[in-house]
Amino acid sequence: MSARELVVLGTASQMPTRVRNHNGYLLRWDDHTILFDPGEGTQRQFAFVDASPASINRICLTHFHGDHCLGLPGMLLRLSQDGVQHPVHLHYPSTGQVYLDRLRHASIGHDTIDLRTRPLDPSEVEHRTVVDVDGDLTLSAAALRHRVDAIGWRIEESAGRRMLPDRLEAAGIRGPDIGRLRDLGRIDVDGRTVTLEEMSEHRPGQVFAFIMDTALCDAALELAEGADLVVCESTFLDADAEMAERYGHMTARQAGRLAAEAGARRLVLTHFSQRYPDDQVFGHEASLEFDDVVVAHDLAHIPVPARL
Ligand SMILES: [Zn+2]
Repeated sequence: MSARELVVLGTASQMPTRVRNHNGYLLRWDDHTILFDPGEGTQRQFAFVDASPASINRICLTHFHGDHCLGLPGMLLRLSQDGVQHPVHLHYPSTGQVYLDRLRHASIGHDTIDLRTRPLDPSEVEHRTVVDVDGDLTLSAAALRHRVDAIGWRIEESAGRRMLPDRLEAAGIRGPDIGRLRDLGRIDVDGRTVTLEEMSEHRPGQVFAFIMDTALCDAALELAEGADLVVCESTFLDADAEMAERYGHMTARQAGRLAAEAGARRLVLTHFSQRYPDDQVFGHEASLEFDDVVVAHDLAHIPVPARL
C-alpha cells in the first residue's frame, strides 16, 4: 500500500448511477487522512475500500451543492460512533455556514468528536493562500469560478534535502554520522568540516491539488501548479463546452489543458455527468492535451506518482 494515495469513493456529479456513487475522495498522505467532498453514500463506500473512517483528521469541502456535502452528516456521526479522539478539522466556504450548521445537526445522534470548524471566506482567497500548516504539510486554498462560492484545495509537503550516497561514501560519512549531518547541518570528519549542502541536493515537496466545481480559471491553475497529482472535475465533454461554461464546469479537454499548463504530473478526471454512457471518452479528450490521465472509477486506489 502506498503511503500517499488517493482513494476514490465516488465519481458522479449531480446524480449517482449504478456504477458511480456521489463524489467522495480520501487522500492518504503519511499520517494525514483527508476527506474531500463527501456526497451521499460516502460512509458505505468505506466498506468496500481498505480504509477506515476513524483515520480521518481533516475534511475539506469545496462547496455546498448536495453532491459534495450530503454525506457529511453520516460521516460525522460515524466518527463519533467509532470513538475518534483526535481533532478533526473541517474546512469550507464561510458563505455556506447556514448549510454547514444544518448538515452538522441533521439527525439525532451522540456527537462526541472534537470537530474544529474552519470557515474560510472565499473573498480572502482570490489567489492561492495558505490556510493551515500541520507538521510538514501545508494546506492552501483558492476561490474557484462556479455558480455558487466554491473553494479548491492544495496540499503541499515542505521542501527538504536528499542525501547523495556517492558523496557521503567519498567523504567517509556512514551510519549515525549521516543523521548527525542532517540534524546539525555540518560535522567534522577527519579534521575537515563537511556541510549538509555539499552532501545533499534540494528535494521539492510533493503536491496534491483538488479542483471542483469550477469553470477553467486562473485560481485552478494556481492550485495545480507543479502538482504531482491533480484531481479535477470534468463534468462535460468538449462538444458541450458551451453548457460547461454556462453551469460553471469544465470539460475533460479543459482539464487536460489545465494539467499541461500547470506543469502537473498526473491528472485524475472525475465528477462525470450521467449524460455520457462511455467514460473512456473523457480520458481520450484529456489525453489530447496531457499524457498521464486517469479516469477515476469508484473504489480505485490511485498512487501519488513517485518522486522524480
Ligand atoms: Zn457544484
